[in-house]
Amino acid sequence: MNPADASARIDDDSRLECRICWYLYDPAVGDELGQIPPGTPFSALPEHWRCPQCDAGREMFLPLEGR
Ligand SMILES: [Zn+2]
Repeated sequence: MNPADASARIDDDSRLECRICWYLYDPAVGDELGQIPPGTPFSALPEHWRCPQCDAGREMFLPLEGR
């Protein structure tokens, strides 16, 4: 799968995985460390949001849906 194509298909309930440390962002859970409340879709995360485990940028996340 081409990552550039995948990024265009992120749904509100899509889970995304950090390709550096494999941290999983689940919209149903949010990110407690980043003060992201449960129910926040990946597309609604703040621009400055980074992986809470390895500090990678949002562009390093790949969607898990469809696998
Ligand atoms: Zn990470």
